[in-house]
Amino acid sequence: LFITIEGGEGVGKTTLISGLRHYFSDTGVPVLFTREPGGSARAEALRNVLLSEFDAENDMTVETEALIISAARSDHVAHTVLPALKEGRHVVCDRFADSTRAYQGHAIDSQKLESIIEFSTHGLRPDITLLLDGDPEKLLTRRVARDGAKDRFEVRGLAFHDAVRKRFLKVADQFPSRISVINAEESPSEVLKSAIAFIEKKLAT
Ligand code: C5P
Ligand code: MG
Repeated sequence: LFITIEGGEGVGKTTLISGLRHYFSDTGVPVLFTREPGGSARAEALRNVLLSEFDAENDMTVETEALIISAARSDHVAHTVLPALKEGRHVVCDRFADSTRAYQGHAIDSQKLESIIEFSTHGLRPDITLLLDGDPEKLLTRRVARDGAKDRFEVRGLAFHDAVRKRFLKVADQFPSRISVINAEESPSEVLKSAIAFIEKKLAT
């Protein structure tokens, strides 16, 4: 199974993923955990370009952003995700193509975006996507209070994060059998419980 974890800033993807590590290590099924942007040596180098400090006068265009993310994804799929799936392991990936739909979808029309996604993934699609959803104002306050630091994405205002949330929910409507929308404002253990329930339902079908 190829499982992706999606959602906006501060929704608790990292916390859910550490819960899933425990869950899968108890079941004894071999799982590879990885992330985007990144997940392979070249893709991690590209991640550093993407997450450079925000430069108000000279920030990268959304087209550049989409292409760098897609280049990173292509490398990651070829060198990390596909080899693990071929070995019979499950793969759990922190963000994947739905993040591109949510974050770059405001400025690039969907036909172009879908063709970039198809091109960079060679058509690989997740079997399961856990979308963590919640009010960005609450979630970002929780995050900034904890971590302080902000990268060039996190400095964008609430309106941006609200729009990202809406686009994620729209994607969930388009792929209802693949995507489970989980309330990220619930406690970590509730979130994990919902995630596992969805995974087990999928494994049983
Ligand atoms: O999930 P994580 O915080 O590690 O993601 C790094 C950053 O990359 C996030 O702030 C996210 O907003 C941004 N991103 C993006 N477009 C993507 C994927 C990630 O803007 N397609
Ligand atoms: Mg971040």
